[in-house]
Amino acid sequence: MGYRNLLKNVKTLIKRLIFSVSVPNFASEKFIDMASIVVENLTKKYGDQKAVDDISFDVKPGEVVGFLGPNGAGKSTTMRMVTCYMAPTHGKITVEGYQADEHPEEIKKKIGYLPENNPLYTDMAIIDYLKFCAEVQGVGKDIVNTRVREMVDICGLNLERHKKINELSKGFRQRVGLAQAMIHDPEVLILDEPTSGLDPNQIVEIRNLIKELGKEKTVILSSHILSEVEATCDRILIINRGKIVADGTSDTLRQQAQGQELVSVKIDGDESRVKKALLGLASVEKVNEQENRKGFFLVQSKPELSSRKDIFDLCVKNKWYLLEMTGIETKLEDVFREVTN
Ligand code: ADP
Repeated sequence: MGYRNLLKNVKTLIKRLIFSVSVPNFASEKFIDMASIVVENLTKKYGDQKAVDDISFDVKPGEVVGFLGPNGAGKSTTMRMVTCYMAPTHGKITVEGYQADEHPEEIKKKIGYLPENNPLYTDMAIIDYLKFCAEVQGVGKDIVNTRVREMVDICGLNLERHKKINELSKGFRQRVGLAQAMIHDPEVLILDEPTSGLDPNQIVEIRNLIKELGKEKTVILSSHILSEVEATCDRILIINRGKIVADGTSDTLRQQAQGQELVSVKIDGDESRVKKALLGLASVEKVNEQENRKGFFLVQSKPELSSRKDIFDLCVKNKWYLLEMTGIETKLEDVFREVTN
């Protein structure tokens, strides 16, 4: 753990010790972990549809967590509940020691939220809008101007600061959205699809900004784009049909999926005989011809088994030349496809 994180944890601990006196339902069992966000058995129903279905997770201070999932998976709904803009059907949410059903206003002060579609008052100039947001968020009058200046700086809005929001490009509007989310210096940032609708250059800029912010703050961001969460997040929660279907770093998720070995082989023999023989091996689960690679097969082993030696022995027994055998690394795309299909 870096010095900054350590210092932050100590600060959080001290704050919590103070707050625990005044906050009656402090999540004491999670206090030991010092989780910044604790979500327990959260469910949201719209009519008969369960948009979020009994999910539980926690986020540690300083972690940058990505909600990854196809459209309609339940990411925005979860974020709306965590930010206290929507009440759950069931379940418990604790943010920075405060329970959502009892202290929503305290939680809103602790969280900076960039909602989906980033609604802004487009008739206002950036500076005026940020001042307005600072007042709404209860930033002290004596520091409003300083905070606005800092946000304009951090979010790279200096040259545009007097422009009206409706004169800005989508990328700059997104920066204003981030600036308003951070104006009150919250511990936690919740960013719903922060790079949606941006061009590739703007995406890189916003990603870098989020990474920078992630050094100081706990961040949850959502995306349906895998490379996005992989580039920005320490940890990925894959959400599908309202449920968490995978949770880990991109490396752990890849390793978990690698539980089943996949090798590409080319064997010099009659293709249908080769395929049948490969399928007959005790260690092999699946054999498929490879697209656009004549004579190549993809061989998937059964869980926990390796079929490499068996394939070699099979070739020797049949006097076939083994022309190629290469291990295939599982890509995060494969993991995503597997858990969301
Ligand atoms: P995501 O953010 O992953 O795209 P959402 O949380 O927006 O997913 O939506 C999850 C599911 O809930 C979807 O099927 C969506 O149509 C439905 N849904 C979202 N908001 C509402 C609403 N206000 N009323 C009814 N259904 C909704």
